Amino acid sequence: MKIAVIGAGYVGLVSGACLAQFGFDVFCVDHDAAKVEALNAGRVPIHEAGLGKLIHDNARAGRLHFTMDLKAAVSKAEAVFIAVSTPTRRGDDAADLAYVHQAASQIAAALDGYSVIITKSTVPVGTARKIKAQITAERPDADFDVAANPEFLREGSAVDDFLKPDRVVIGTEKKRAQEVLRKIYQPIAMTGAPLIFTDFESAELIKYAANGYLAMRLAFINQLADLCEEVGGDIAVVAKGIGHDKRIGHHYLQPGPGFGGSCFPKDTKALAVTAREAGAPFSLIEAVVKANDKRKLDLSTRVTRMLGGSVADKRIAVLGLAFKADTDDMRDAPALDLIPALTAAKAQVVAYDPVVKPNGVSAFEGVEWAKSAYAAAKGADAVILLTEWNEFRGLDLAKLAKSMRAAVMIDLRNLYSPTDIAKTPFAYHSIGRQAMG
Ligand code: NAD
Repeated sequence: MKIAVIGAGYVGLVSGACLAQFGFDVFCVDHDAAKVEALNAGRVPIHEAGLGKLIHDNARAGRLHFTMDLKAAVSKAEAVFIAVSTPTRRGDDAADLAYVHQAASQIAAALDGYSVIITKSTVPVGTARKIKAQITAERPDADFDVAANPEFLREGSAVDDFLKPDRVVIGTEKKRAQEVLRKIYQPIAMTGAPLIFTDFESAELIKYAANGYLAMRLAFINQLADLCEEVGGDIAVVAKGIGHDKRIGHHYLQPGPGFGGSCFPKDTKALAVTAREAGAPFSLIEAVVKANDKRKLDLSTRVTRMLGGSVADKRIAVLGLAFKADTDDMRDAPALDLIPALTAAKAQVVAYDPVVKPNGVSAFEGVEWAKSAYAAAKGADAVILLTEWNEFRGLDLAKLAKSMRAAVMIDLRNLYSPTDIAKTPFAYHSIGRQAMG
């Protein structure tokens, strides 16, 4: 089966490579010439475990192709996945569907033989139906169906998540489209993951409901951590205590600096807009959005308080810039709120991330870049742990403290235990636990 994937980003690239691994003939299309050129030269433009080898193996086997030629890729493809970005729209909080509809239009022009056009991008409820109407209007002669097939992979474990998902959700209207998707996902079904066949609307809602719910758990634990800071109690123990309740579970109960990334912030906002526009306001999700935005905006105040009321002229090492570990994705990362606020307050920020490199992001203007955690901490008045990279869990704290001007650690991911830190020279601040030192 020939498959086209439009958009070679985190989702498109991983999906394309995994589908090629299943044996399909996959054409990944992107309009970013530099990206396509890099991929064709064997360079993977994103940091994602296992993706490089998967791309290399399948490209070599002749099953995975990268191109800017959407027409050739779509022609005679039985399935065309739309995996373009759906960022927050400028001016309001809705999902911007400009890329999706542009891709649909280009696909419409290229259709040649029966195809299922599949939305893999996260799109608001109603979008599959709109795409169907759009393609029908633009190409009344085309033989096609539409399917809504949201993706649940997580950056950092994207390949694994795609190959071994908890479930695959497929919204269709037609048996023929169902059969194409059943064939595509057969290798995954064989691992035991359920294929959930449903209508367009349910499929689209499942994605936003999942992200909304997970984001809600994070906002919940973050506010509970704030409460611990005021009244005593250790958020790690409280989370463990509630997590053992089988009705609750342990996932997504880790407090932190506020959720970021390319999904939770934009998807919660878009869900709130959808619900408001539908006349069924989702006040719970609106509260999640508000709480998380505020948490990130207040990060510099939190840090300043921990540093005695002023950061002016302090040298502050920020360890970790990506929104979470194991990815280079900076979209809506807490670092984008914290670092500019610190530099505006005249702190001298030294940044280190294992994979995010100096990238001309304007938010990081004036920031010094270090090549290791130890280099960043040298001469610093405080070190802030902002991303939960594993390499920050096992730092030689004695060595780190010795090289600093003042041994102060602000652990916004609770990577260390206060008991362990008490044996070191560090004054230690974390989230939802009492300060020490
Ligand atoms: P991305 O920005 O990494 O990739 C999108 C790619 O699409 C870019 O390379 C862009 O150049 C390309 N593109 C846009 N319009 C195009 C067109 N008309 N023709 C060819 N290429 C085009 O985005 P992403 O993170 O992969 O996310 C894609 C979608 O998947 C979004 O809707 C997102 O919400 C959803 N999603 C993302 C994740 C994630 O973890 N990143 C997980 C699940 C779902």
